[in-house]
Amino acid sequence: MAQDKREETGMASPMYCELCKRNVVPEKKFNWLVFIFLCGILYLPFYLMQKAKCPICKGEAFGPAQAGK
Ligand SMILES: [Zn+2]
Repeated sequence: MAQDKREETGMASPMYCELCKRNVVPEKKFNWLVFIFLCGILYLPFYLMQKAKCPICKGEAFGPAQAGK
């Protein structure tokens, strides 16, 4: 697969995942089931406090993004 060189849009910046040994874009998962179940309002603070996780290993061990080839 070709290297995906995305420009930073300001929305999500890549971080270096210590577990995957590569740059990833941390993601938060929005759980619609919980959102609907808790009538939304209660879930929002929970979602906002949630830490972004690595989409590959679900880890939270991030370092600064590394400029590599
Ligand atoms: Zn990872």
